[in-house]
Amino acid sequence: LTTSTNNTTKALLISRFSSSRATAEKSDDDRFKGHDMLAPFTAGSQSADVNPLIIEKSEGSYVYDANGKKYLDSLAGLWSTSLGGNEPRLVAAATKQLNTLPFYHSFWNRTTQPTLDLAKELTTMFTANKMAKAFFVNSGSEANDTQVKLVWYYNNALGRPEKKKFIARNKAYHGSTLIAASLSGLSPLHQKFDLPVPFVLHTDCPHYWRYHLPGETEEEFSTRLANNLENLILKEGPETIAAFIAEPLMGAGGVMPPPAGYFEKIQAVLKKYDVLFIADEVICAFGRLGTMFGCDKYNIKPDLVSLAKALSSAYMPIGAVLVSPEISDVIHSQSSQLGSFAHGFTYSGHPVACAVALETLKIYKERGIVDQVNKIAPKFQEGIKAFSDSPIIGEIRGTGLILGTEFTDNKSPNDPFPSEWGIGSYFAAQCEKNGMLVRVVGDNILMSPPFIMTPEEVDELISKYGKALKATEERVA
Ligand code: PLP
Repeated sequence: LTTSTNNTTKALLISRFSSSRATAEKSDDDRFKGHDMLAPFTAGSQSADVNPLIIEKSEGSYVYDANGKKYLDSLAGLWSTSLGGNEPRLVAAATKQLNTLPFYHSFWNRTTQPTLDLAKELTTMFTANKMAKAFFVNSGSEANDTQVKLVWYYNNALGRPEKKKFIARNKAYHGSTLIAASLSGLSPLHQKFDLPVPFVLHTDCPHYWRYHLPGETEEEFSTRLANNLENLILKEGPETIAAFIAEPLMGAGGVMPPPAGYFEKIQAVLKKYDVLFIADEVICAFGRLGTMFGCDKYNIKPDLVSLAKALSSAYMPIGAVLVSPEISDVIHSQSSQLGSFAHGFTYSGHPVACAVALETLKIYKERGIVDQVNKIAPKFQEGIKAFSDSPIIGEIRGTGLILGTEFTDNKSPNDPFPSEWGIGSYFAAQCEKNGMLVRVVGDNILMSPPFIMTPEEVDELISKYGKALKATEERVA
């Protein structure tokens, strides 16, 4: 393929297509009025974005818009509605709790039974490393902000106040609060927000296809990245580095599984310099990778773990931080001395969210959710990876029920299509037209279907992907 086609014409065609949903339903006059919401992760100036797709109803693997159009939800909401759109047991669990105790907090040695039960369940379920306590939050971002505070509190208690820096990775996504956005390694989260904060450093993104040197094997690539991490720690001074944070499989940055040997080598470096490992399991946990946790899949032994999303199948906002016994013991003695562990949110351990999360975990167990994922994952992976030969696809990557497709020219990570062509957006718009929702990040298409997807729905997903790909290939040709 060449990129010599008339770029301007192409860009115009693509942007006209992507705003067609909006123009079809509104007159030219009210098209630019927008709405009253300052919308997250939405560009304010584009007509397509101020006329949002309004989702009204969900059912299994499908959602319906306000006009009744049905879409296969290939991203499970935001990587989150693991049990699909209308699990009656979760609704019943919420209703029962709302009718008994809609709210009580967990401050000052008061709490609720579902909160305690969920803490017990989570610390028991997570087996990659022993976890002693669960701290509850309302989102993945709050979980990661809490991680930073816990680590600082811990190091202050140990009398090493200089050990405060965090190392995260380029292209990581850890959320969008001040610290979580700083930990993230995606420039749009930093630009114009004066981020990242100075105590956050970033190291290499472990994406073999894009970043390996000519002739370098995956193992050699992992060794080089571990060496780079070690050099960064030495340059900064190991006594200043508190923790390393990583998603077991990188999600929102483009779905990037780790290369062979990566976590083994990284963990050896961290251990050498007494640097804690925080596993951000917000996307990976509860079966998505075909193991209960991402740490199980990649043999990660974390000191702290962040959870959210599939913890409640996204039916209620809830997240959790799991804390190792070593850290929780130190926090315990420090807070006993101070008279309080002064961190928490009104809704930490909200009883309705906890009741729904408990029921979600019960369903995962009863239905053998990991086996269920492993039953449909091969069909999903093989079905989509069969399109790898497409001349506009650079790489398709993923495992379990998560996949990313990256469009590039000449099968090369170094030949992106001109961004004004909007190839990713065009593909996503084709999917939407054909009744499927995908996530688009530049020229990356990301999918993470619900765990309850049937084999027939996987066939439908593959067929819709194939149609959108064909249309996109025709646009580019
Ligand atoms: N961490 C990871 C790995 C995520 O993917 C996300 C969200 O997608 C977050 C943290 C932030 O979670 P939330 O949007 O609930 O704050």
